[in-house]
Amino acid sequence: MGEFDLIARYFKRPVRRAALGVGDDCALLLPRPSTQIAISTDMLVAGRHFFADTDPCRLGHKSLAVNLSDLAACGAKPLAFTLALSLPGVDEPWLAAFAHGLLALADAHGCELIGGDTTAGPLNICITVLGEVPVVDGRSQALLRSGAKPGDDLYVSGTLGDARLALDALLGKITLPDAVLAAARERLEQPTPRVALGLALRGVASAALDVSDGLIGDLGHILESSGVGATVDADAVTTLIAANRSSTLGRPAEGPSDLSLTQDQWRTLALSGGDDYELLFTAPVHLREAVAQASRSSQTAVTRIGQIDATAGLRLVDQRSQPLANRYASFDHFA
Ligand code: ADP
Ligand code: MG
Repeated sequence: MGEFDLIARYFKRPVRRAALGVGDDCALLLPRPSTQIAISTDMLVAGRHFFADTDPCRLGHKSLAVNLSDLAACGAKPLAFTLALSLPGVDEPWLAAFAHGLLALADAHGCELIGGDTTAGPLNICITVLGEVPVVDGRSQALLRSGAKPGDDLYVSGTLGDARLALDALLGKITLPDAVLAAARERLEQPTPRVALGLALRGVASAALDVSDGLIGDLGHILESSGVGATVDADAVTTLIAANRSSTLGRPAEGPSDLSLTQDQWRTLALSGGDDYELLFTAPVHLREAVAQASRSSQTAVTRIGQIDATAGLRLVDQRSQPLANRYASFDHFA
């Protein structure tokens, strides 16, 4: 099978909103009036972002999910995406499963594949996603990193740390009971982009981003962009690890390995584990009910984990408000 047959078989689909999709030199999109186009790119490299033998259906899902997560963080509605693929060869069962996982998530979010590029080379998946943000009375409704104000509450969606727990287990650093590994692995390999929550937070959140490299490091981006500091309750964050919750809810251990992690290991997972793709956001205290409403309408759990301060810097405290040393660095490809 040649390059063009491959594209036609797996990636060419009838256009929906686009004026022109796969098959010409460019795709064409007609923007709606009074909208901005939000654009984001994420590249996934085999051996660096995922194991080369990852289930291809899950990999297709994740490749788009991490991009949709960026749209969610901006409060943008998914519109379309392009797919640049470098493949070591034509493996049809792999391509069919990859396309299935990718396009199922795309369809669930009404995000159409409008073009891309396909070459031979090491396995590498690069997606650029486009979304829409309304402009109301001349003002963009996009959620940015720069709007946090002293006194704002700090929130995070969903669960944190489980993807990192799975990664540590797959790397052989720890051993997990099968059921715990399966659940954590799903968080690593099939993250849920919080698109509905991001849309519901327009006009409510003062700042937002998605947590991809670890909570503490990513929070640092909001603090820097907004020119503020924050205090974070580290123990409120460790309760967001699904595996921690189930292991402390009195369920019997499933095997000799147990989940006998130290408090510091739990904190490390939640505070500096990456690949969570949850939304971290701030909102004024008087909008607490609006945040709760956004959580309900998007059916996405949201937890308050701290607050924004006028004093620069990040202060970590435990559940008794005692200060904790911040040793929780984020992932950095070049550090
Ligand atoms: P060009 O040579 O002009 O760059 P290509 O031959 O690379 O175009 O691609 C042909 C068409 O197929 C283009 O419309 C392009 O957007 C699309 N395409 C290429 N690879 C992919 C892919 N992986 N997924 C979706 N569309 C693709
Ligand atoms: Mg090309």
